[in-house]
Amino acid sequence: MSLVVEILSTGDELLTGQVVDTNSTWLMDRLWDLGVMVRRKTLVGDDRADLRAAIESCAARADLVIMSGGMGPTEDDLTSACVAEVLGVPLELHPPSLEAIRERFRALGRPMTANNEKQALFPRGAEVLPNRFGTAPGFAARVGRALLVCLPGVPAEFRGLCDEAVLPRVAALLDGRQAARVVKLLGVGESAADHRMRPLMDAPEHRGVRFGFRAHFPEVHVKWAIAGPDAEAHAAALEVEVRRIFGDAVWGAGKEELPALVVAALAARGARVALAESCTGGLVAALLTGVPGASAVLDLGVVAYADRVKAALLGVDERLLAAHGAVSAPVARAMAEGARRLGGATFGLGVTGIAGPGGGTPEKPVGTVHLALAGPGGGAERALQLRGDRERIRRASAFEALDLLRLALR
Ligand code: ATP
Ligand code: MG
Repeated sequence: MSLVVEILSTGDELLTGQVVDTNSTWLMDRLWDLGVMVRRKTLVGDDRADLRAAIESCAARADLVIMSGGMGPTEDDLTSACVAEVLGVPLELHPPSLEAIRERFRALGRPMTANNEKQALFPRGAEVLPNRFGTAPGFAARVGRALLVCLPGVPAEFRGLCDEAVLPRVAALLDGRQAARVVKLLGVGESAADHRMRPLMDAPEHRGVRFGFRAHFPEVHVKWAIAGPDAEAHAAALEVEVRRIFGDAVWGAGKEELPALVVAALAARGARVALAESCTGGLVAALLTGVPGASAVLDLGVVAYADRVKAALLGVDERLLAAHGAVSAPVARAMAEGARRLGGATFGLGVTGIAGPGGGTPEKPVGTVHLALAGPGGGAERALQLRGDRERIRRASAFEALDLLRLALR
């Protein structure tokens, strides 16, 4: 039997379209990582009768109910009161929480109003979950056979408390009986991925595994979740098979991000990179500098848009530009070599292409992109024919460029 988890979100603002219920989607993503698909999600306004009814019905169906919102100091924050009513117990003051709230206001230099004391009231018998991320603590209580966990709605607090107090418990409850994996691809579309996975997904030994594909442009993520006593081992065995199916198109797994992975790989080798970008206009540099610690591996990024600059700054031979055009493999190569020289780096990476919507020709349509890497062991190149609008072509080019570097660093 797998763990039945439901999410209950409360707040009038969630029903008026003012605020999107991102707490639940964030939590669903986290739970899926543990192999749990949430069974049902309920959204109710700040209404006592509705809240009581929702708490009762969620608790009647689920093993675990995670509730978001209604923990604040104001009149419309009803969660503790409604849980107490459902349980038939009084609200009780939790002195350590009151002291923590007082201390928080003292530290902020703000006067504490009487209604803040309300945030230290919990249903009798509940386990208080201290909140390092904000004012209102959360709490957990048994409601029938379900464990009900109530958390503040402010996203940073909700997430912080989930990570600290909820997800570790879920993992403990699962005890390896549920597992999920994600493998991340580049250069393979969603439908192609589905097609290549089909024999594996249809194999009788994998019946009961939930497979899924998610487009996370320009990446495609292949996911699977398994319930059962050997879930972890089964999930791991599937990862081996999925990696075999997609080969080099697999650049990572789990929570890995391509830019961070490339920065780490460069750092591990003591290598540094210099960039010469044309159609991506610095996007590769932006992706790399978005990673903490990028300064240890990035020497230089040049946006060389004009041919004149490609020649003058990067030393791209004018004859190459004349003979092949700026969007060509030889020019990409010369850009990579020029960047490497200029930056005094281990690797040089060159990107040149036609992002559109104008500028395409029959020989070089929009989406023609040439990537080149110059390095100590020689070079590598990639020619792409991308589809989509300007933004997609630029983004896909930047990720493909990082991928070229990733392969060279293996
Ligand atoms: P507070 O102590 O701030 O009152 P609370 O537990 O009462 O916390 P709410 O009053 O329901 O939480 O929401 C506080 C703020 O957090 C809301 O204004 C909203 O911006 C945000 N928020 C609430 N619920 C969600 C949700 N499910 N997803 C995303 N944001 C949310
Ligand atoms: Mg509130």
